[in-house]
Amino acid sequence: MSAVLNGVYIDGAWRAGHEVLEVINPATEACLAQVSVGDARAVTQAVDAASAAFIDWAKTTGRERGALLRKVAQGVSEQREPLMQLQSSNNGKPLFEAGIDVDDVIATFEYYATVAEGMDAAQDCPVALPSDAFSARLRREPCGVVGLIVPWNFPMVTTAWKLAPALAAGCCVVLKPSEVTPLAELQLARIIAAAGFPAGVFNLVCGTGLAVGAPLAADRRVAKISFTGSNAVGVQVMQRAAETIKGVSLELGGKSSLLVLADADLDLAVELACGGGFFNAGQMCSATSRVLVADSLADEFLQRLQARADSIRVADPFAEDVEMGALINRAQYQRVLGHIQRGVEAGARLLCGGERPANLAKGYFIRPTVFTDVPLNSALWNEEIFGPVLCVRPFATEQEAVALANDSEFGLVASVVSRSVETTERVANALQAGMVWINAPQVIFPQTAWGGYKQSSIGRELGPWGLATFQEIKHVIRSH
Ligand code: NAD
Repeated sequence: MSAVLNGVYIDGAWRAGHEVLEVINPATEACLAQVSVGDARAVTQAVDAASAAFIDWAKTTGRERGALLRKVAQGVSEQREPLMQLQSSNNGKPLFEAGIDVDDVIATFEYYATVAEGMDAAQDCPVALPSDAFSARLRREPCGVVGLIVPWNFPMVTTAWKLAPALAAGCCVVLKPSEVTPLAELQLARIIAAAGFPAGVFNLVCGTGLAVGAPLAADRRVAKISFTGSNAVGVQVMQRAAETIKGVSLELGGKSSLLVLADADLDLAVELACGGGFFNAGQMCSATSRVLVADSLADEFLQRLQARADSIRVADPFAEDVEMGALINRAQYQRVLGHIQRGVEAGARLLCGGERPANLAKGYFIRPTVFTDVPLNSALWNEEIFGPVLCVRPFATEQEAVALANDSEFGLVASVVSRSVETTERVANALQAGMVWINAPQVIFPQTAWGGYKQSSIGRELGPWGLATFQEIKHVIRSH
């Protein structure tokens, strides 16, 4: 076993924490690393350091901050391969998926570097007033010390979506990665440390939700918490933040739909259904786990989907022809199998999958799973499964499909497959979702917002909205 890694970085220095946690490779169930993680004491010290650093960091120009963000993008780019390896071994995701993650991180830091560089020209812009007796200017200022709490399914990506805009805005940060997947964030922290940020601007405290996340959300000096994770924990974060009237932005769960309309290209529909259901072993807030298919296509679509799902090669993330890797840990593996079993008990018809692949004795693997005849009141239809499980349901009319897709307490994303521009545009406009893809895989650009309707989110990440989350608006009015 290698040495214990320091999982706490405060005021420009690495430190041991107060407890050692094991990090597991979900494809082999072997221990990958040991990390010394922090607790409430480390959180207090990290917020001390961030508060002290904020005084000068808030005064830096956008150009200065942009230059540092560009160095982070450069550092991640130089370490693309090792970062991919770390993500695959800690997450169980195939190497090619880890590559997509790392590229997204680079694109996000580059985007916010450009945004930061453009901020100086926009600062102090005059505001037109209806009276010559006064003049006014508008300032956008960093909101202060911010706490960033992220989950395990896209480590580094969810971090980059918060960290890059927070630093671009001029905030100082305390980052808490998932205790399940700290390794990529630890490496990202080393890259940030090497980029030359002033001490205390970026702080990292690895640890559990209760030991680190909860005190971070409660600290009265933290101006804002940006959280991505489950709805259950999102509620707890909001409750703690409420005690000090802290701003919160939340990226939570989803139960999204893929709509296959009557004139859809079936091959494309099957490919997009598999992408939306089985990428990252289905552990995506944006999983399109409800697949709604026009009656006229349903039989043919199901046949092709089953054949494709059965052919997906589930394997170790480093295997050459792997298409789907492992689930994150034993708890998630058992949770997903439990959902599958309860779905069958509720009367849903299991078309394929639903179990671990026969050739894999170790690791948290589940075969791509497809259900039909899923009761509309079942947990399988309504809850986020967060595993490789699709529920397919035929529909008779476009209105019915839209109503089924919108009938959810979530509203994160949706996908539509159809050859008609007019129909897809109409359907996209009718869907209650923060992102709609038409005939497209789940591409995400830093320029477009991420977040959803209803219980999926509060606020939006990425784009100018992701920056605004970390800014206060100030107007200065002068009398003449
Ligand atoms: P989780 O809610 O269990 O944990 C998320 C983070 O919160 C972790 O770092 C965890 O340690 C921390 N945490 C746990 N308890 C806490 C507490 N009491 N106070 C403060 N922090 C606490 O989620 P997870 O299992 O890591 O991730 C899966 C969930 O994340 C899914 O529900 C998924 O939909 C959601 N997710 C959403 C998005 C999005 O953009 N909407 C993206 C990725 C994941």
